[in-house]
Amino acid sequence: MTRPVRARINLQALAHNLSQARRAAPDSRIMAVIKANAYGHGVIPVARALAGADAFAVASLEEAMQLREAGIRHEILLLEGVFDAGELELAVTHQLQLVVHCEEQVRWLEKFRSGASVHLWLKVDTGMHRLGFAPDVAQAMWQRLQRLSYVKTGGLRWLSHLACADDRSSPVNDRQLERFAEVMRFSESLQGRSVEGSLANSAALLTRPDMHFDWVRPGIMLYGASPLLPEDSPGAELRPVMTFESRLIAVHQRRRDEAIGYGQTWACPEDMPVGIVAAGYGDGYPRHAPGGTPLLLNGKPVGLLGRVSMDMLCIDLRSQPQAQPGDPVVLWGEGLPVETVAQQAGTISYELFCKLSPRVPRVYE
Ligand SMILES: *Cc1c(COP(=O)(O)O)cnc(C)c1O
Repeated sequence: MTRPVRARINLQALAHNLSQARRAAPDSRIMAVIKANAYGHGVIPVARALAGADAFAVASLEEAMQLREAGIRHEILLLEGVFDAGELELAVTHQLQLVVHCEEQVRWLEKFRSGASVHLWLKVDTGMHRLGFAPDVAQAMWQRLQRLSYVKTGGLRWLSHLACADDRSSPVNDRQLERFAEVMRFSESLQGRSVEGSLANSAALLTRPDMHFDWVRPGIMLYGASPLLPEDSPGAELRPVMTFESRLIAVHQRRRDEAIGYGQTWACPEDMPVGIVAAGYGDGYPRHAPGGTPLLLNGKPVGLLGRVSMDMLCIDLRSQPQAQPGDPVVLWGEGLPVETVAQQAGTISYELFCKLSPRVPRVYE
């Protein structure tokens, strides 16, 4: 038997979640966010399963080229634009759309000559305070970019990103929307026609129809995890795409007071069975998951014991004393929401997905 750890990727669930995004934002086009190897799910199979999306978004030229080399012909947006002037030529050759977030990028574009037309998304900082131009500066940049000969009518658009969309009650959301609507109005009155914009990530897609504009940019919801705070319900039926699973490889009967694993941080309170699972932080299971974090053994919850090691972790078998080596274990996915594990480990589903190790085989079904 080979090492039993794997991630099953349910491509139907992915297509289902895309249809949930369509239902929630019926009047917008969908730019599916598949950066970071499609949040760890494997970018090429995911892009193929999401062929119904209107465009894709990635973080770098390398990620986009991977898609082009696999024959994906959708529109692709580089979410941070190009990282140097030299990338412009390749980006245009491969028909990539670019975010423009800093004046240096504007200068590279002003020096650039192209026969082909290019789509640019001017990034306005409406409150995230990470990338993009402050609204007044952004308006000046708009005027510079619309003079570029290779940017055709409609080829210049607005984009902004939300800082607190996971929290519906945050006052930041309305403030960001106001600032976004303001730059949209500015350019529309300047050009005398409507201009396209994009503001919503998954959370805003599901909770804020007033933020949908022309393009929505769902990421995490496509993979079946809730984009909202744990206490809130996404209001859409999302299905988990990734099921991270392995098997029991040993079962031991331990004595009371025997301590388990590195640091001997946890000792058996009574004579009890302990199971060893072939999965650890070397596979992407969070090392900081505390004792008691749930896993599914034979479809039923059991708790983590002691410290997670690189290739293994230990579980409490008191509720399933009949368990045997070879029994199936789910670390997250079907039957055990990734958000539950993330919350226990003090992180978010996004990080668990992205950190799933390359050594874990992805099995597509
Ligand atoms: C990653 C990203 C998204 C997707 O966010 P989710 O919360 O995963 O839906 C959207 N827009 C930008 C700019 C991003 O970087």
